[in-house]
Amino acid sequence: MEPQPSQIQRAAERLAVADAVAVLTGAGISAESGVPTFRGQGGLWENHRPEELATPAAFARDPALVWRWYHWRRGLIADCRPNPAHAALVDLEARAHNFTLITQNVDGLHPLAGSGNCLEVHGSIWAVQCMACGRRYEERSLDLAAPPACKWCGGLLRPGVVWFGESLDPVVLGRAVEAASSCQVMLVVGTSAVVHPAAGLAMTAKEAGAFVVEINLEPTPNSAWVDVSLMGKAGEVLPGLVGGS
Ligand code: NAD
Ligand code: ZN
Repeated sequence: MEPQPSQIQRAAERLAVADAVAVLTGAGISAESGVPTFRGQGGLWENHRPEELATPAAFARDPALVWRWYHWRRGLIADCRPNPAHAALVDLEARAHNFTLITQNVDGLHPLAGSGNCLEVHGSIWAVQCMACGRRYEERSLDLAAPPACKWCGGLLRPGVVWFGESLDPVVLGRAVEAASSCQVMLVVGTSAVVHPAAGLAMTAKEAGAFVVEINLEPTPNSAWVDVSLMGKAGEVLPGLVGGS
């Protein structure tokens, strides 16, 4: 379904005069790069649902199983490259005075595309964190099929992501809330808007008076109250919106 030109224009006009812009992205923005979404095809692995593996309890029960899953997911993502939607947000950042990108994605494609002010509120699949000494660092080269050991203390490493049932880093979440509360326009791109608290940031922006624009393939719980809902592929809609067409 193609979004209506008049709706794109309304959103583009608000974007062009906004001093502060915040963007919230989810797995849908990376779908055209070939990264599977949790709720689309390719979400299942060895008959496990993500909600059964991405939890502290699953890791405590069977760290090797959880690492095998992350190893598989890292393999799926490793060769994926940013798409035109990621690139459009880099262009938007270069233009806006005050720009914050808040992503629920752990794939690292926004930083790879060149986004500077990017809050990875759910962490990164390329980061590890030590269960013993607490250190967190980037580690791309490990053979993660077996549970890896900390390079500092030898302790068990966990993936550097936020799992279901865990709290977000309060400093990172605080920055995201601040950006959502102070922006004039918020773009909400490729998120099903069901995983909280990140999903609630769109409502935070709306309540603080922002003009909220949603870009998604299909309606979401946010569609009923956003100012403009653009149905279509992020990689097609976002470049048009940012380019002002
Ligand atoms: P989700 O899988 O729940 O929803 C994806 C949304 O994107 C859907 O609403 C779908 O309609 C939309 N979508 C799919 N293709 C699109 C396209 N080409 N253009 C525009 N929209 C498109 O994802 P979520 O809301 O991000 O929540 C899932 C959680 O899982 C997140 O918290 C995230 O941390 C994690 N996750 C991350 C990745 C990643 O890093 N790429 C992938 C899967 C899951
Ligand atoms: Zn350690």
